[in-house]
Amino acid sequence: MHSEIGIIGGSGLYDMEGLTGRQEVTLDTPFGPPSGPYVTATLRGRRVAFLARHGAGHRLLPGELNFRANIFGFKLLGVERILSASAVGSLRDDYKPLDIVVPDQFFDRTKGRISTFFGGGLAAHVGFAHPVCGELAALAVAAARDVGARVHASGTYVCMEGPAFSTLAESKTYRAWGFDIIGMTNLQEAKLAREAEICYTTLALVTDYDCWHPGHDSVTVDMIIGNLVANASAAQTIIAETVGRMPAARGCTCGRALEHAIITRPEHVPADVKKTLAPIIGKYLPTS
Ligand SMILES: [Zn+2]
Repeated sequence: MHSEIGIIGGSGLYDMEGLTGRQEVTLDTPFGPPSGPYVTATLRGRRVAFLARHGAGHRLLPGELNFRANIFGFKLLGVERILSASAVGSLRDDYKPLDIVVPDQFFDRTKGRISTFFGGGLAAHVGFAHPVCGELAALAVAAARDVGARVHASGTYVCMEGPAFSTLAESKTYRAWGFDIIGMTNLQEAKLAREAEICYTTLALVTDYDCWHPGHDSVTVDMIIGNLVANASAAQTIIAETVGRMPAARGCTCGRALEHAIITRPEHVPADVKKTLAPIIGKYLPTS
């Protein structure tokens, strides 16, 4: 059950070739249940755990996701790195449908989503200037290039609330603000992974141009679904390749994100908070 690498995406992802020893693990967390069971397996000799972001049969809206439970569950499994895959719209001409973007920045346009493990008597502020793990992102970009994908090594992902797509005015504004792709889920995952000292990077799979594009109105559901299927297959290949290339030890600073982040004096942190968050903060604030 112990896993070193977490993978979040569509439920089709764990039908990939080369997975052995598949096992379903149902976890509960102090924040409630994750989106569904984790599927643990061995891939390229590494222990991985998959989670279908929107639950079995895609039942959960982005705003309904229990991001804390999803990330905490990975922490409980021992995961140190998370590779995420998700569909996005493109805000620029040269990021075309079927391209893959590995964003290096996020911009938050969500509303009222819980995006922290802290509070309740424990104040902590992690650095988030560079919201994805540079080391993991570079591995994913190189793997994507080597398997022949059209990949862009940077970009700003604007995370909108949804579930409806943008208005034309919003889409045009996001372009004017310099954003590159638009999605509804990745920002909270990145933020909570950072708090949990887990590396995070995402493969953003471009399914279509957002509504700013003059050709947008001629896009059919069939075209989007076709692109999603092709993208999911590319994502499987890239994920397997990235997993196979990961060095055993991390060379980045994600694993020390909380080292100087906790402000509350240890004797003032409530015992129940220390206990609840022990998998995350235990090495800094032991329970006894
Ligand atoms: Zn890292």
